[in-house]
Amino acid sequence: MVNTRLIQDIGDAPRYQLLIKHILEAGQRFEPRREIVYRDIIRYDYPTMIERISRLANTLAGLGVGPGDTVAVLDWDSHRYLEAYFAVPMMGAILHTVNVRLSPAQLLYTMNHAEDKVVLVNSEFAPALQSFRDKLPSVKHYVLLSDSGSEMESHLDFSGEYENLLSKSGNTFDFPDFDENSVATIFYTTGTTGEPKGVYFSHRQLVLHTLAIAGSIGAYETQGRFRSNDVYMPLTPMFHVHAWGLPYLATLLGVKQVYPGKYEPEMLIRLIKGEGVTLSHCVPTILHMLVSGAASKSIDLSKWKVIIGGAALPKGLALAALKLGIDVYSGYGMSETCPVLTITYLTKEMLESDAESQVDYRVKTGIPIPLVDLEIVDGEGNTLSHDGKAVGEIIVRAPWLTAGYYKDETLTRHLWRDGWLHTGDMATVDRAGYVQITDRLKDMIKTGGEWISSLEVENLLSQHEAVSESAVVGIPSEKWGERPFALVVLKTGYEGEVDEPALQAFIKSYVERGVINSWSVPDQIIFTTAIPKTSVGKIDKKKIRSELAAKFPLNK
Ligand code: AMP
Repeated sequence: MVNTRLIQDIGDAPRYQLLIKHILEAGQRFEPRREIVYRDIIRYDYPTMIERISRLANTLAGLGVGPGDTVAVLDWDSHRYLEAYFAVPMMGAILHTVNVRLSPAQLLYTMNHAEDKVVLVNSEFAPALQSFRDKLPSVKHYVLLSDSGSEMESHLDFSGEYENLLSKSGNTFDFPDFDENSVATIFYTTGTTGEPKGVYFSHRQLVLHTLAIAGSIGAYETQGRFRSNDVYMPLTPMFHVHAWGLPYLATLLGVKQVYPGKYEPEMLIRLIKGEGVTLSHCVPTILHMLVSGAASKSIDLSKWKVIIGGAALPKGLALAALKLGIDVYSGYGMSETCPVLTITYLTKEMLESDAESQVDYRVKTGIPIPLVDLEIVDGEGNTLSHDGKAVGEIIVRAPWLTAGYYKDETLTRHLWRDGWLHTGDMATVDRAGYVQITDRLKDMIKTGGEWISSLEVENLLSQHEAVSESAVVGIPSEKWGERPFALVVLKTGYEGEVDEPALQAFIKSYVERGVINSWSVPDQIIFTTAIPKTSVGKIDKKKIRSELAAKFPLNK
């Protein structure tokens, strides 16, 4: 770092801290009457939300929560979660968004590792906690989250039910100023090996992330903008990477926000239709569930903008969504990066082209958003050229990347090398700056010394009229090191004839057109009824690999 003249060398006005409370203040100034809606259970306006956030802070303070303490939430996407997104960090405490889909052993591990003090738990997850309650020494209080508002018999000895506690607490709270570098949130990401890893983010990071996504998905004139007159509904769990930070942005903009609880197709469709939802974000699996379900045919989805992230958006799924009128596009990031790093950007010319031509850019992960510095590097750390061909690991710098893995110096050293966060994602970057993820480093398939992108083969399979979903993985081979195998789910009600040779011939047609190499054609295509998914709804390649490897030991 070079030496410059610092502002405090000239004057010393008090430094204004970037705190989450300032996000909350903004939205209601512009649009106080807009609503926060939870299923068909509750709706209220922004001033009421602020009052409820104060009530929650008073409730938590009454339970002994102070600055630096950790408050865990186990809930589906709800207005309660939104309130906790603000109240907990605004008190100076740390919000632990617990992944409710973890195994009981992982839940126990993460809650102990984060040293949760007060736990807000949906009645649905109370039995799981009850089973290991004696093994959570740091937890002093449990608060019941219940849609009906009624109390529940449990060995957790609840300090009360959320709504009851809120109604008994004061409706103002003097949220203090403190250092913007204070930790605001923590959550855990499950790797392929070992225990879940904790990542954490400060107020400053969340504020800057919110402002940067406001600029990138809000301001630049292109597809799928998030404006203050949108109606927002998350379809990425709020326990996963702050639901991509969009609840903070939605609040900043003062938009109507709809929280769907547990993702049930009927309810989702009802809310999209009834509340007029216009913007959501999700992993491809959720979009696939909605697009392929019968209910989607019964409503007009042409006003719905959907950002896909967390996994690659297959071209076939993007085309199916576009056909329904959905303005679908991609974003890229990871738990470690708060998350947003890149977003699709269609130029005016691209937007004026037909769906088929646009779709290639909609499934790419777009360009880095403001303040993100992104490069691709080879195994020796050399920067690769942005020519759309060179494939390297994405490394990034940005103001909102996790400082490390909580209490794990070894993994932190591996994540942060030479001042850059190493993502483990392989990609190309073209001359215009568009990033195309080719694979996770560990999901790439190495066959006869050549690399295959499993995502590229899945992308091609997704364009076959019979294919609903697919997963391509590398299976050990004595001769080649690894060979690609594919799992395929066919569309329900598909009436044509399709078998393994037909799908292989379909992929080979892309070999003939020079799109992929001959060694990318899967050796085996196995038809199945469901593809294993992870706790956040992504294709579980680790599980598929181990199941197939056991079934086809060292295929020749
Ligand atoms: P997670 O930490 O669970 O959010 O997973 C982050 C990982 O998901 C990234 O490291 C990528 O491997 C993958 N990912 C996220 N967004 C995309 C995308 N648009 N295309 C391809 N892979 C993605």
